Amino acid sequence: MEDLKRTAPPEGFKGKKNIYVCEKCRGHVVTVDVDAGVTPFMIACEAVEKCSGMMKSSMYRVFDQDIGASHEWYRPSIATSLSGATLDHVMKGGLLLRRVKK
Ligand SMILES: [Zn+2]
Repeated sequence: MEDLKRTAPPEGFKGKKNIYVCEKCRGHVVTVDVDAGVTPFMIACEAVEKCSGMMKSSMYRVFDQDIGASHEWYRPSIATSLSGATLDHVMKGGLLLRRVKK
């Protein structure tokens, strides 16, 4: 297993908030990048009532950066077991999404 830290990009949008809006149910989630890396433009719906739609990134154009985030983009440690497309995504500098622990 390669050291994932070696492939991590230097900057990214670490600490920045973003909003993803669902094209189908119009639900939205607020995310924050807790690590440097790449986040996708489109993600599967993560709204409270998850639908089959896709959510589109607001490209970090969030006026109020003090808004509370419900989800965070993180870089998994090498110990985390990843496979297939997910591993590929992470090796290319991609971050993974998870719900923020309250
Ligand atoms: Zn939706």
